[in-house]
This record gives sequence, C-alpha cells and structure tokens, in this order.
Amino acid sequence: MNSASALLWWRLELPIPYELEESLFWKLTDLGLYRVAFQHAPEVPAERTLLAWLPTSEWSELDRDQLMASLRPLAEPFGLTLANPIWCQVADEDWSLGWKKHWQPDPVGQRLLILPAWLEVPEEHCNRLVLRMDPGSAFGTGSHPTTRLCLEALEKNPPQGLRVADLGCGSGVLGLAALGLGARQVLAVDTDSLAVSASRENAELNGLDLDRLRVALGSVDALESLLQGQAVDLLLCNILAPVIEALAPSFDQLLSFKGRCLLSGLLVDQAPRLTAVLEALGWRVSCLTKQGQWGLLDVSRS
Ligand code: SAH
Repeated sequence: MNSASALLWWRLELPIPYELEESLFWKLTDLGLYRVAFQHAPEVPAERTLLAWLPTSEWSELDRDQLMASLRPLAEPFGLTLANPIWCQVADEDWSLGWKKHWQPDPVGQRLLILPAWLEVPEEHCNRLVLRMDPGSAFGTGSHPTTRLCLEALEKNPPQGLRVADLGCGSGVLGLAALGLGARQVLAVDTDSLAVSASRENAELNGLDLDRLRVALGSVDALESLLQGQAVDLLLCNILAPVIEALAPSFDQLLSFKGRCLLSGLLVDQAPRLTAVLEALGWRVSCLTKQGQWGLLDVSRS
C-alpha cells in the first residue's frame, strides 16, 4: 500500500449481540483484518456495532460475501444469527472520523488513561498517566482485552529503566505506556506500514523523542536491526497464538539473560499449547492472566 490517503474503503457495519464481540474480533484478526472497531452505546449494553474497513481495490462483492459466510458460523454456538451487513464506500477521511466519533477517554488499570488526541483530560482522571492516541488506521487503541492485559501487566511491574521491544506494535500504545512507566527506550516493529506511521505519529503526539521510541517496518529481522547487537530486557508481543508460536524461536536472540516477555493475543484455550512450545524452547511461563477468553503469558528464562 503506498499512499493511505488515496484509498477508498468498504465500511462494514454490522449490529451484533455483545457475546459475539470477542469471537468476531478474533476471526477478523486471524484473517489479517485489523482495521476493526466495536461501537457501543452505554444505554444499550447488550448491543454492539462491528465496524470494519476493507480497501475497495482488494475486496470484490464475492470476497465480501465469502467474508460474511466465514463469520456467520461464529454465532451458531450461541444460538444466534448474524444480521445482514451494511456495506458502504467511504473515503479515507471518513475512516478516521468514524473512529473519532466512537472513541472516549479510556481509563486502564489504576494509573493509565488512553485519551483520544483531540480531547482534554477529564477532571476525574487528572492523576492518571495520559497516553494520547490518534487511532488513525492501526489496531490497538487499547480497547481490546489483550491490549488491556498487556497494559495492566506493564502497570503492575513498571519497566523502570528497561530497554523494551514491541513486536507487532499496532498504534504503538504498549510502547507509549512502557515509556510513560519508566522504560529507557522502546524499539517497535510492525509488518503493517499503517501501524508504523500511526506509532510514529502517536509518539510525536506524546512529545516523545524519536530516539526513545524507534519504529521500523517488519518483524523479527527489523527488530534485530533496531537492537544494534544489544538485547532487550522486556519483549512485548500481542499478536495471535499461532504467530507467537512461529516467532518464539527468535525470542532467545532478542532478549537479554534476565529478559522477560509479556505475550498476549492468545485465547485462554490456546495457553497450554503455547506454554508447551515455550517450555520446549527453554522458557518458563510464570503466570497466565485472563480477561474473558483472552490470556496473557508472563514468560522468563528457565
Ligand atoms: N501492540 C498493539 C497491537 C496489537 S495487534 C496492541 O497491543 O494493542 C497486532 C499487530 O501485529 C498488528 O498491527 C499486525 O500488523 C502486527 N503483526 C502481525 N503479524 C506480525 C509479525 N509477524 N511481525 C510483526 N508484526 C506483526
């Protein structure tokens, strides 16, 4: 994708019962679709609207029908059926406005506040550490349970003075939190160029020196170039269990002798398998933290 501003998007709007939010999110990210939002009105807690944006150049009518056909079975275990989707074509500006409309200040844990860039800090949250974010077009505004699990784990054990890597940085939210909680430097990579630019923009929004939050396009190789031969103390990786499993053999070379990883993006059901894979590679999983069906593994060298 060269210029994001030249894109036209299909915007999917699909009313869903709240029970389906996690499975739909899971399925969509599994399909590589990260430009997704769930809208909800506080007065109707049982309902959500799924919004997803797909580039028009890549999604024919047939592709979109197939996408819906792959989502429908997710409702069956709940005895529910999905409503008919509404598809409309929107320009790039609508995409970011769409986000803006649905985004509110979001307190996380005891100390953090994710704040849309265009809002003031609400009085009741004035003691929190503010992470200003323009959601732009990258996943990871903090609303997903796995992002929250990572943020809460960082808050619980602040990475004071540590050098941190963020593999799959999305909007950069985890790196921003790590720096706000005392990390010395964050090195972040993502395979999606929109995520890379969003992370850089969010670093700037928070007045961070680009040397403290370095961002590059790519995966483990890109991260290794950023490391410049010096391993990190903490690795954050919130992707999906199969992706983490595939990346796990590289963790050894990324992390220092006392290094630790916070791994999320997995379903609780997937934790035993991922734990076995990590243990076979010489890692020790010290705890599994859960939020709904999502989990986070806290991992260190055995
Ligand atoms: N760290 C953010 C975003 C998580 S979403 C948060 O916690 O909220 C997962 C991100 O990983 C996406 O932005 C996706 O583009 C990226 N990604 C997926 N596979 C990857 C890989 N193999 N290497 C690096 N990034 C990857």
